[in-house]
Amino acid sequence: MDRFSSARDVALAMRPDVPVYCFRPEVLKADARAFVASFPGKTAYAVKTNGEPMVLRTLAEAGISSFDVASPAEFEAVRAVAPDAELLYMHPVKAQSDIRLALERHAIRVMALDHEDEIAKILRIVRALDLDPGEITLYVRLQTKGHAAYELSKKFGAAPAHAVELLQRIERIGFRVGLCFHVGSQIEDPDVYERALASADWVRARAGVALAGLDVGGGFPAEYGHDPKRARREMPSLDRIMAQLRSDIAEWGFDHLPLIAEPGRVIVARAFSVIVRVLLKKGRRLYINDGIWASLSDSWTGKITLPARFLPDPARRRRSGDPASLVPFKVCGATCDSVDILSRPFWLPETIDTGDWIEIGHIGAYSLALRTRFNGFYPDTFVEVTSPFGEGGGAQGFAAIETMAD
Ligand SMILES: *Cc1c(COP(=O)(O)O)cnc(C)c1O
Repeated sequence: MDRFSSARDVALAMRPDVPVYCFRPEVLKADARAFVASFPGKTAYAVKTNGEPMVLRTLAEAGISSFDVASPAEFEAVRAVAPDAELLYMHPVKAQSDIRLALERHAIRVMALDHEDEIAKILRIVRALDLDPGEITLYVRLQTKGHAAYELSKKFGAAPAHAVELLQRIERIGFRVGLCFHVGSQIEDPDVYERALASADWVRARAGVALAGLDVGGGFPAEYGHDPKRARREMPSLDRIMAQLRSDIAEWGFDHLPLIAEPGRVIVARAFSVIVRVLLKKGRRLYINDGIWASLSDSWTGKITLPARFLPDPARRRRSGDPASLVPFKVCGATCDSVDILSRPFWLPETIDTGDWIEIGHIGAYSLALRTRFNGFYPDTFVEVTSPFGEGGGAQGFAAIETMAD
């Protein structure tokens, strides 16, 4: 992979017409190490957030040795770069053949579930393979309530009374039992962990089983941008959220248990930016070579404001407008789909024009994994960049990407 010191250098050297992903391995390592240092348990990276081999390899180099996986392709992706890593299979609803593959081929010994029929599926395969259930830990996924950019509790999780029954049933069979929850992605309410811990405590007290561990899931918020025209949502820093979580864990009496976290977004968001090109400017409207079917779907559905930077094309001699004035542009994506319009604006210098580039920062989470081949556009060009996005200099704008309904 070619290496550059900044995205500006990439744009000037490559003059790219396709989106270019700028990977920052040192930023990824730093963010992974910061999380590991502040979480009082095992850090299992959630592979679905960004499963690129370069990401998994870099995380392994940074000392991450546990991975939250959800499919055979994810088992293989981790094994390919970190053969001895521990895999935690935390998807609550699994195919029979995938459970077999996990237990037999990949020696996975930790799984999650939220229903008795899932226990039956796992037990059947454990018996068929003649494994000792006492070597396998089944985590019961507990329903949670709260606010996040992505709410997942409507889909997964057992209600507390149901979780009590599941824990007791799992223990009677002879498996080791754990409790887990996942509060959603990019939390918007720092108290969600505390409420989930309170609920876990309620379940533990009624189940009367010895817990082998508590898994607090993901959801830890990444740093994004801010739309200058919207009220800033007050969120404490990650340091403060982690300090609060540590004290809540102790307060609810879970600090003596083995703990696991499954962070994705907070570890990988800052590690990538994407350089997009303005294909056409029509007044206050910009047509770019990326969009919701490529790198920008997570920020669109999650209503996330990304930081952006104007990278002017030096070949353009004449410009109109005031370079110091940040104005809102409506941004249209590359595909022919009329949905592919980012209806909240990008705030960029008035002078931006056809042929210029925009570096959109902090797109490491749920962007590469969610890009599609729609209309034949599939961004897949990568370079390495050594300076963090925040140190790139130049005009700072904001890609405020939100849906029409907002
Ligand atoms: C998606 C997911 C994660 C990662 O969530 P982030 O918000 O990206 O940290 C962790 N655990 C489970 C079970 C998930 O589904």
